[in-house]
Amino acid sequence: MGPSSAPYAALPHGADADPLAAVVRPQLRMMPLVVVLGMVAALLEGVGIGVLIPLLALLMADGAGTPLPGPMQQVAAFATALDPAHRAAAIGGFVLAIILIKSMVQAANNVLLVRIQARASRAILEAMAARLLALEYGSWLRNESSRAANAVRQSSWWAYEIVRAGLLMAQSGAGALVFGALLLWLDWRLSLVAGAGAIVVSLVLGMINALQRGQSKRLSDDAAAMTDRLTEIIDGGRVVRLFAQEEAEQARVRTLAGRTFAAYFRLNRQAGLVTPVFDLLVACLFVTLLLAAHALQVPLPQVSAFLILLVRGQPQVGQFVQARTTFAGQVGALGEVEWLLRQPVRPPVEAPVPLSGLPQPVRFDRVSFAYPDGTAGLRDASFTIAADGVTALVGPSGSGKSTLVNLLCGLVRPDSGTIRLGTVPIERIAPADRHAHVALAGQDMGLFTGTVADNIAYGRPGVDRAEINEAARAAGALPFIEALPQGLDSPVGEGGRNLSGGQRQRIGLARALLLKPDLLILDEATNAVDALTEREIMTLLHERRFFRAALVISHRPSTLAACENALVLDGGRVVEAGPLRETAYFAGMGGGMAA
Ligand code: ADP
Repeated sequence: MGPSSAPYAALPHGADADPLAAVVRPQLRMMPLVVVLGMVAALLEGVGIGVLIPLLALLMADGAGTPLPGPMQQVAAFATALDPAHRAAAIGGFVLAIILIKSMVQAANNVLLVRIQARASRAILEAMAARLLALEYGSWLRNESSRAANAVRQSSWWAYEIVRAGLLMAQSGAGALVFGALLLWLDWRLSLVAGAGAIVVSLVLGMINALQRGQSKRLSDDAAAMTDRLTEIIDGGRVVRLFAQEEAEQARVRTLAGRTFAAYFRLNRQAGLVTPVFDLLVACLFVTLLLAAHALQVPLPQVSAFLILLVRGQPQVGQFVQARTTFAGQVGALGEVEWLLRQPVRPPVEAPVPLSGLPQPVRFDRVSFAYPDGTAGLRDASFTIAADGVTALVGPSGSGKSTLVNLLCGLVRPDSGTIRLGTVPIERIAPADRHAHVALAGQDMGLFTGTVADNIAYGRPGVDRAEINEAARAAGALPFIEALPQGLDSPVGEGGRNLSGGQRQRIGLARALLLKPDLLILDEATNAVDALTEREIMTLLHERRFFRAALVISHRPSTLAACENALVLDGGRVVEAGPLRETAYFAGMGGGMAA
């Protein structure tokens, strides 16, 4: 089972305690093989080198019973059985063959390791994407989107590095164990000395690691604050220039960068210490071993074999130590990935009721909603939106219009009360079903990288050209689209940056009209510069070819004149609902409406 078969939201139930492990674990099934191959490679290398010394000693003494100690006698016995004329060639060939096999095993293991890492990394990325797509809209309301972006952009790469470090630890740790065993087999007393030395080395390195863990968390926090500000400078580029705050922004970034890179320097200064300290400690260990060998009167071939094995085993230990340092140094970044994977997701719709259309009105019954910070968005609101005709949604800024729209589109759920589309409570309607009936167009709706046609067809991928054209025409987008070099196939640039605000609005409107929704929500409230022209709106609202009912957020008297009903909000409460011309709101702006 590949990572792509991971389910929606990609985490097994109850995996919230350790979400990253839950994602990565299934990808690590081959990890025991990494360990085994690591051991085999080390064993082959150790044997190849370990036997070389006694055999050479034997050759040089011309087979004349050199006093070989312990385990080496068996090897020597084997060699002396060989024909003396070919002995040197046979020994050389034997050792080379062993080293060749060892190299092949090691190469295979490296490939396996990279493969596991790639699969695990892919699983992490897919799990994050699944989480992002399943998140409650509340995450955006709590302004957590930049934190999520940071987790995806940076921390995920650190997560991949950590997976790699973990695998390298397994591989080199296994090799180091084998070398340890071979050393014991050669001479247990010298091994004890070496073991004691290794404990001292690991204690010193452990102290450095512990220091790093805290530093890495701090660095990750500082770096996040810095990228957040830079992202805001990009997004708010216009405001920064309009208010001539370049220098102030520069100063702010300088402070954040100073803090971040000081932390970065401290962390890497410690990491840079690891290798020299390690080398120094190993050198001390060697000298100690030589002195110990002298005191214990260990024969020279045995000491040589021991030291060579130790030298060859050291890179394994070194790699293990390095990988563990990476692990400790970057584990702080995992917190952000885990945070993302632990975010609450939308509960699935239980026993969804199919929605065949909206012949009846939309009804809000005593609906209340408060934002995560406690601010009331809508209070005890009861009203209906007619199944045919155009309803104006009006009220001062902050009166709850956007909140109402978010509730109506199912982006947020009411704290109390019920919303019915026709006869069906909104929470019983599957999102894919709802979106076919209720569509939103308006300000800040966002476009995706791709062509104009891709963006218009976003809600109905694969729809034919004729329909796209028709929707574009109704949205007043066709004239400028036809003037683009590649027409509908012109790229809109990242987030629609190649287009003007008004052009983006029109593409957004075409995207909503293409759904031929029962209820079209048109939010053209305040952004006068980028608004659709009056004529376009009027034609759309009068023709009503693309929708049955519309809910229009607008302050323009001309637009309001095209509405039959009105819903007037103030302070999150519905203050008036009914035929527009009977409302006090209408009377209040009478002069303008007549114009
Ligand atoms: P309108 O669209 O009419 O301008 P909104 O529905 O956006 O009004 O806002 C209604 C109330 O909810 C206001 O008091 C506003 O400050 C508050 N509000 C809106 N969005 C949020 C949010 N993400 N977090 C907290 N309060 C919010």
